[in-house]
Formats: sequence, C-alpha cells, structure tokens
Amino acid sequence: MNISDYSIETRCIQAGYEPKNGEPRVMPIYQSTTYKYDCGEEVAKLFDFEAEGHIYSRISNPTVAFVENKINALEGGVGALCTGSGASAIMTAVLNICSVGDHIISTAAVYGGTLNLFAVTLKRLGIEVTFIDADASNEQYEKAFRPSTKLLYTETISNPALVVPDFERLADIAHSHGVPFFVDNSFASPVLFRPLEWGADVVLHSTSKYMDGHATVMGGVIVDGGSFDWTKPGFEGLSTPDESYHGVVYTEKFGRAAFVNKARAQLARDIGPVMSPLSAFLLNLTLETLALRMRKHSDNALKIAEWLQGRKEIPWVDYRGHPDNRYYENAKKYLKNGASGVIAFGVKGGREAAMKLMDSLELAKIVVHVADARTCCIHPASTTHRQLTEEQLVEAGVKPEQIRFSVGIEDADDIIRDLENGLNKLQLMEE
Ligand SMILES: *Cc1c(COP(=O)(O)O)cnc(C)c1O
Repeated sequence: MNISDYSIETRCIQAGYEPKNGEPRVMPIYQSTTYKYDCGEEVAKLFDFEAEGHIYSRISNPTVAFVENKINALEGGVGALCTGSGASAIMTAVLNICSVGDHIISTAAVYGGTLNLFAVTLKRLGIEVTFIDADASNEQYEKAFRPSTKLLYTETISNPALVVPDFERLADIAHSHGVPFFVDNSFASPVLFRPLEWGADVVLHSTSKYMDGHATVMGGVIVDGGSFDWTKPGFEGLSTPDESYHGVVYTEKFGRAAFVNKARAQLARDIGPVMSPLSAFLLNLTLETLALRMRKHSDNALKIAEWLQGRKEIPWVDYRGHPDNRYYENAKKYLKNGASGVIAFGVKGGREAAMKLMDSLELAKIVVHVADARTCCIHPASTTHRQLTEEQLVEAGVKPEQIRFSVGIEDADDIIRDLENGLNKLQLMEE
C-alpha cells in the first residue's frame, strides 16, 4: 500500500523512514555535513540533478530528508523543505517568488514575528505587504491586488487573534488573480487541517509549535502542494533558466515540484536556513504522537473554554470550537477533527488583572511559547506584540485584558482547578 492510503494516525508513526533488510528500525541520525563518493563523475551528476543523493548538509541530509518525507506525507504535498525555524521557512518561501518591486497581500491578524518580517524586513528589501482583514469582502480583496502582487498569505488559526479564515474563498480570490495561496498551518497541524485539500498551494509551519509540541527543537517547514502553475507570467524565476544553477529551468526539470526544488537548490544553498540532523531526529519522534496529542489538546481546550465561560471574572472567551464563537462555522467546516488547543480570554479588571491571574497560576507556566504539551500562558499585549502601536494591536486582534492560554495535554480537571485557584486569589486581592 502507498503511504498516502493510510490514515493520518498511521502516517504520523510510519511515514518518512522505511528501513531496508538489516537496517536500524528507528531512523538514524546522520550527523555528517558531507558525503563520500567513489568517483568524481557521480558528484558531477548530483550537481546536474541527474542522480539522487546528498551533496552537503546545507542543501540536504538523510535524517532531515526522512522528516521532510513524513511531513510531506502528512500534508499531502509533492515535496518538503525543513528549515531551522518557522521564521526562516516563511522568509525562504516568500523569497522563492518575490524580489524588489514585488507585493504581497497578507491577512492582518498573523503571528507577531511574521508581522515584523512583512512590515519591516521585507519592506527594507523592497517587497511591499498590504494587510487586510481576513473577513474583508471580496471587493476589498480585489482592491488590494496590484500587477506586482505575487501571493496571498494567511494563517489557519491566527496567532494570537485566533481568526479562522474562509480558506476556500481566499484560495479562489488568489487564483482568480493568478497568484498562489500560502497558508501557515502551525496552529492546526495536518492532523486537524490540511490546507492543500482546500485550495492552498504552499503550506508553512513553525515545527517549533504543535509538530514538536514538547518545546525542545526549533524548526520550520515548507510543503509544496504541486498545484500552482508556475509557468504563469510573474513567476519567471521558476520558468526561465537559473544562471546560478547553470541554466536549470525548475518547472521543466521538476514539474509539479518546481517550487520546493528551487527553494532548496537556490535559496537553501545561498542563505543556509538549515535544520540540524539532531533536531530532525527529535522532531520525528514527537511527530509520532501528533495525532494523539492534537485530539487531547482539542478536547481539553473545549472543556476549559466552556468552564471559563461560566465564570463571572471572565468577560469573554475565544474558542472557535464553541457554538457561540464568531468562527464556529468556519471551524466546523475546516477543523472537523478538533479545533486545536490555543484559546484566549479576557480578565475583568484589564491588563493588571490579567497579569495577576497569570502570576497566581501554578500548573500553567508563563512562557513565550505556545502549542506545547504543557499548559502555558502569556499576555500578548505586553510581550509578543509589545513592538506594535495601539492601532496595530487592534489590527492584530490583541486586547489589553487578553491572556493567550495554550491548553496542554494534562488532565483537563487539573488545569481547571489551577484556573479556579488563580481566579479565587484574584478575588481576594480585589476585596
Ligand atoms: C511561532 C510561529 C512562527 C515562527 O516560528 P519559529 O519557529 O518561532 O521561528 C510562525 N508562524 C506562527 C503561526 C507561529 O506561531
């Protein structure tokens, strides 16, 4: 049977590495920067893409390749490239088709680091980004497009505003303008949502989030959906000879997998955003439990959101898995297997009360992280989104009284007890 015929649970465990007779059952760590060949001619063939093999670990490494295969099988793509962080995955994917003078449209409520990358660093490189409300009308989207627009970008469950866009609609808008649709799927993971099945062309992850899920390894990945026709005008970097690679034409050489192969052959080579073999080994282990974890994260988050909703100190709770939520319909359509583990809520008393509640929690730790097996929390307005102006905070969906609460896979009742103790202490302080 082909690996893609198995369920996502089975793919989490089995995809990526297949030992041959007598080889280690568990994926080995190839801790080597370089590879030995018997004759020079073979190496020359590698450089011409005429043979398969590894040249140098900045470009590819067997252990990293096993994990790339696994993630590619989980998302249903035609190829994947792992990077040293989610940030470098996004940067590499964008630079693969954008250069000075080009333009991107991104939904406004995206990860703080992505906002900075788009609004400041890309701008310095001459790439302009227009931010748009994910729920804006089709007409508003139309107005944002320019002749130089190269892609439409969004996140599955945006961090930290928790927006769930209407993916089919956004994919249609992008494609009707002849540009690809990029989705950062870090907060759902392929267990809960596979963007390629809903019109996305390129999927990105910070694997440092749920894919790792244990807060041990930084990493990112680009998954090529193989769906976009890069011979369209505007994407000549893929469809005309690459002088830096002795004239290879990626669309001709790699067909549907042109995007990921260009990213590797050209940008991983030139910029070097590599994932280490040890990180890949650890990521592979944690991916084995991804399906189990995502189900538990989702169950726990729903339980905790419902409990918080009954507390008078909590004026609002944001969890798309709850029928009262503004994104419930989108979640029902796109997140059928669970709505994931990150919730947000407000605390009566504003910024100060929110900070006090966090300080009094014992099980839930304050960390600059999210999507971890261990429950954790943060106050976005004073930390991850600190650099933003008041106006940008509103655009990013960050409120002063807001706590981002990343529900772990502990026993839900224990997490609830922790919150209950914290809220009770808050009341004592107020009285
Ligand atoms: C954390 C995060 C990133 C950045 O990933 P790093 O691995 O921290 O570089 C990108 N997108 C989203 C949605 C994130 O949560």
